[in-house]
Amino acid sequence: MLNLDLKTDVLIVGAGPAGVSLAINLGKRNIPCILLDQKKRSDVGYKPCGDALSPNSTRKLFELSGIQQPKGEEIGEDLESAHFKPVLDFELWIPFVSQTIHRLKYGQRLLESLVDYSSVEFKPKHKVIGTILKNNKVVGCNVRTDTGDKIKIYAKIVADCSGATGIVRRNIPEEVSDKFPKKLQKKETIVSYREIIETSEPHEYQKQMRIETHDELPPPGYFWIFSKGEKLLNIGCGWLINDSNKEYSTKKVLETLRNKFFPGVKVVDGAGDTLPGRLPLYSMVTDGFITCGDAAALVNPISGEGHGPALLSGFYAAEKIELAIRRENYCEEELWDYNVKIWKTYGYEGALGIAVHKLLNAVPFSDFSYLFEKEIISQSDVDAIMGSTSVKLPIFQKIWKGMRKPKLLIKVARGLMLAEKIKKISNKYPETPEKFERWVRKIKRIERKNL
Ligand SMILES: Cc1cc2nc3c(=O)[nH]c(=O)nc-3n(C[C@H](O)[C@H](O)[C@H](O)COP(=O)(O)OP(=O)(O)OC[C@H]3O[C@@H](n4cnc5c(N)ncnc54)[C@H](O)[C@@H]3O)c2cc1C
Repeated sequence: MLNLDLKTDVLIVGAGPAGVSLAINLGKRNIPCILLDQKKRSDVGYKPCGDALSPNSTRKLFELSGIQQPKGEEIGEDLESAHFKPVLDFELWIPFVSQTIHRLKYGQRLLESLVDYSSVEFKPKHKVIGTILKNNKVVGCNVRTDTGDKIKIYAKIVADCSGATGIVRRNIPEEVSDKFPKKLQKKETIVSYREIIETSEPHEYQKQMRIETHDELPPPGYFWIFSKGEKLLNIGCGWLINDSNKEYSTKKVLETLRNKFFPGVKVVDGAGDTLPGRLPLYSMVTDGFITCGDAAALVNPISGEGHGPALLSGFYAAEKIELAIRRENYCEEELWDYNVKIWKTYGYEGALGIAVHKLLNAVPFSDFSYLFEKEIISQSDVDAIMGSTSVKLPIFQKIWKGMRKPKLLIKVARGLMLAEKIKKISNKYPETPEKFERWVRKIKRIERKNL
């Protein structure tokens, strides 16, 4: 029988933003790679998403590697402000530059740009069904091809860019690496559903991004409304799974909210998915293996923003892979620097996210109005949280404002202290694998703390 097995330097699993960015950046370095996706070519890029993508992320990527930013029809709308309605009748807003984009169109253009790189081969309708290991190293994947054949693709390095499923990672047994989880726990997963809706008249949210909470949502759920054009909106809801909300359907809750706030609108598209809601994986590499984007849990747990981190992590991974290939050394130590880079870049965002989620779980919605009315959480704090800069501990400056609810104030202060502690630990990510165990013990101890 004909042997259809293949061999390459880098096998990239998944042609979402992480995989395509990695492929382009390896192509620029003339490193042979195969990029594959289970989808057909014309569907690559489509993804149920809030569609918000900060031009800061894409500008950074452009400056680092020349990957083009969204343009023309790929941009739904340039957003100018972010509005937060944590409780009824109360609203905070900040000037906020972002864009809603057309994910399919932008994804397709990035995919098409691969023709410039002869070292990159794209294979649509190829589904990874297993990970191949040899001597406790990742050496390739079992793949079902577009013709239904089962083949093996061998590579010096396999990059898992398969999104929240992490198909390669979940097939790496603990004996090979216990530094990352095979499967994320339910409580580390955000469930989400979104619709693209068309209004008959220009809607009232032009150039806005809104995040609101409503009684219809199980805590810590949120409802978003992102403008995509004069009569087009992306609306959605989501929440980090916990024991009390796991039975709720995101689709049904969104339907209720849509009927309440946008009765009679035309639903252009509706789809849901999951996304990681935790700190980045403690390690994202092992021998012959690296992971980027959602598969590495690089999603901001507050805003759900993962598109930018997926694109950027593809670039950072390409830098490390190039060195490994040039040195002909594909082991964990050689790829380790990628962990350091990612943790220093995204550790604090994750930390703030964990703190905010703990707070949302620990504080009833009614107490939130008090926090905002008394300005214990202020506009500048929200600004800082969204920009992932340091949030001031309110306990000293604002203690007098929260006198009536000292326990609540303590919870807020503890949440922010927790985020600061995780930030410090993120910045001390071990430079080599030897000190990893100690570092993980430390960060887990802090993560487990209740407010
Ligand atoms: C409802 C929702 C709303 C969101 N809103 C926003 C937002 O507003 N802004 C933002 O920045 N982010 C948002 N995100 C997150 C964002 O969509 C992701 O972070 C981003 O798409 C991650 O990119 P990725 O390349 O890592 O994974 P993905 O985009 O998920 O791409 C993974 C690719 O891998 C392929 N694949 C999977 N399994 C296999 C397999 N076995 N074999 C072959 N191919 C496979 C898939 O077909 C897919 O093409 C949202 C997510 C959801 C679910």
